[in-house]
Amino acid sequence: MKTEEQLSNVFFAEAFPDADSPAELYRQVYKYTDCGAWLSVLIEYYKTIEPDGFNDFPFDKLVSEWVHCGELHRLGTWKDLDQKGVLVTAMMVGSIVEGVDQCTESIEVEAQQLDEEPEEYSKRFYAALGEVEQEAASIWNDTHGCETCAEHWGINLDEELSPVWTKCPDCQSSGRVVYG
Ligand SMILES: [Zn+2]
Repeated sequence: MKTEEQLSNVFFAEAFPDADSPAELYRQVYKYTDCGAWLSVLIEYYKTIEPDGFNDFPFDKLVSEWVHCGELHRLGTWKDLDQKGVLVTAMMVGSIVEGVDQCTESIEVEAQQLDEEPEEYSKRFYAALGEVEQEAASIWNDTHGCETCAEHWGINLDEELSPVWTKCPDCQSSGRVVYG
């Protein structure tokens, strides 16, 4: 069994063998989901607090912060993070549906390095991603009907968005792009 001191980002390198860094994992998540999902990563590290009116000596304080999508490249690889003494403790996935700017639920997947194998973590991660995809698809289907879909439902597209009609001969139930 691992101890608290043995926690490292090797866990994530093993959970995601095809991604050597958080930025690469984000690239894959974005590319391979229909909804273009986003990824944020929660990091934990010791920050040196300089002397101020409250403390006479510098001291190290454990802080954690979320790093989002486009910022992830700054973290470097899993290995770089270990060298810098930065530990990833959780990841979060979600999606914004284009055109209607509706967000799916954001799902946080906390790593339980002491209790689970890397494979179990990646399984939970991809399950969360699947939920996001499903929700994004359902938002898309509720709002992206084409003119023929709208006609089928008796909806005036100038006034409101139309759900997709699954038997639509025009868009083949794929809907249309909506410009928000
Ligand atoms: Zn249609």
